[in-house]
Amino acid sequence: MSDKRIFNFNAGPAALPLPVLKEIQSSFLNYNNCGMSVTEISHRSKYFDDIINDAVARTKRLLGLDDRFHVLFIQGGASLQFAMIPMNFLNNGKKADYVNTGTWSTKAIKEAEILKKDFNVAASSEDKDFSYIPENIKFTENATYVHITSNNTIKGTQWQEFPDTNGVPFIADMSSDIMSRPLDMEKFGMIYAGAQKNIGPAGLCMVILRDDLLSQAEENLPSMLKYSTYSSKNSMYNTPPCFGIYTVQLILKWLEEEIGGLAAMEKRNVSKAEFLYDFIDASEFYRATAEKNSRSLMNVTFRLPTEDLEKDFIAKAAAEGFGGLKGHRSVGGCRASIYNATEPEAVEALVKFMKSFKKEN
Ligand SMILES: *Cc1c(COP(=O)(O)O)cnc(C)c1O
Repeated sequence: MSDKRIFNFNAGPAALPLPVLKEIQSSFLNYNNCGMSVTEISHRSKYFDDIINDAVARTKRLLGLDDRFHVLFIQGGASLQFAMIPMNFLNNGKKADYVNTGTWSTKAIKEAEILKKDFNVAASSEDKDFSYIPENIKFTENATYVHITSNNTIKGTQWQEFPDTNGVPFIADMSSDIMSRPLDMEKFGMIYAGAQKNIGPAGLCMVILRDDLLSQAEENLPSMLKYSTYSSKNSMYNTPPCFGIYTVQLILKWLEEEIGGLAAMEKRNVSKAEFLYDFIDASEFYRATAEKNSRSLMNVTFRLPTEDLEKDFIAKAAAEGFGGLKGHRSVGGCRASIYNATEPEAVEALVKFMKSFKKEN
C-alpha cells in the first residue's frame, strides 16, 4: 500500500503531526517492549500510568500551570462539557455569563438552558452573522464564570485577547485552538478541548480545572458527570480512552521537543495564517469572511465570487491532493483549517494552487 498523503485541511478530526503517526506505527505491535500494543495493555499497568502522567506533566509545562490546576481526560467530547459545566457549577443561586460567538457557544448556552440554570448572555455577535468577536462587554458582577469559545471553528473567528472580567474566571472552550499559543492562565478557571482538532484523535476531551472552581462543584450528581470523580482518580475512575491519551502524550512531546513550546508554535501559526490571509486580501477573487481584527489563526474561512466557482474550486483542489476545504455545512463557502500539525509547506502549496485556480477563472 502506498503511504502517499494528501494536504489535509480538515476541520476535525484533523491532521496530526507526521512524526507522531510514524511513532505510533512503529511502536504499535510491541509497545515499549511489553509484547503488546498500547491498545491491549491494562489501564492499571505501570505502562499506562507513565503515559497519562507524562501527558499531564507535559500539559502543565507547556501551559505553565501551577499546582492549583488539575488536568483531566473525560469522554463525551467538548459537547458533554457544555452540560457538565452548568451541572457542576451553577447551583444554589450561582449564575454565569455566556458570550455567544456562534455555533459552539450557542450549543453551550442551549445546555445551560435545558438544565434551567441561571445565566446571562453578556454579548453576542449574531447581529453580523458571528463574523467578529464582541468588545466592551459588560460582565455580571460576582458571576461564577464567564463562558467563551476561544476560537469559532466554523466562522473562523478567534479571541485575540481576553478582556477584564472583574476577577470572574473564564471557562473557555478551546477545542480548536488549545496549545496553539501561550496563555495567561491567571484569567482562566477552566479550559476544555475536544482533542480531535489540535491535540489528538476524537474520543476524549482535555479539561484543565482550577482548584477553587473544583472545590465549589456540585457533588450530588452521577459519578461520571462530576469533576471530582475524575480529579480524585487521575481520570481513571473507569477505563479511560487509552489510545487517545497515548496519542495526546506523543503530540505534546512533539510540541515540547520538536516545535519548542507554545511561543514557537504561535510564531509558526501566525506566519502560516498571515501567508494565507495576505494572499486572500490581495487577490480580488477570494474574500475572507471574518472581520480583520477577529480572524482565526486556525480556521481560515473564505468565499469565491460565486457558489459555482466554490464547488469547482473544492473539486479541483481535491483532485490535486488538497482535502477538507469545504466550509461547514451550516455556512457554505470554503475553509482551510491550519492547526498546529499543518506544515507551512502545506499552506504554501495551497496558496500556489489558489493562484493557479484564480488565473484559470
Ligand atoms: C469541534 C468543536 C466542538 C465539538 O466537539 P466534540 O468533541 O465533537 O463534542 C466544540 N467546540 C468547538 C469550538 C469545536 O471546534
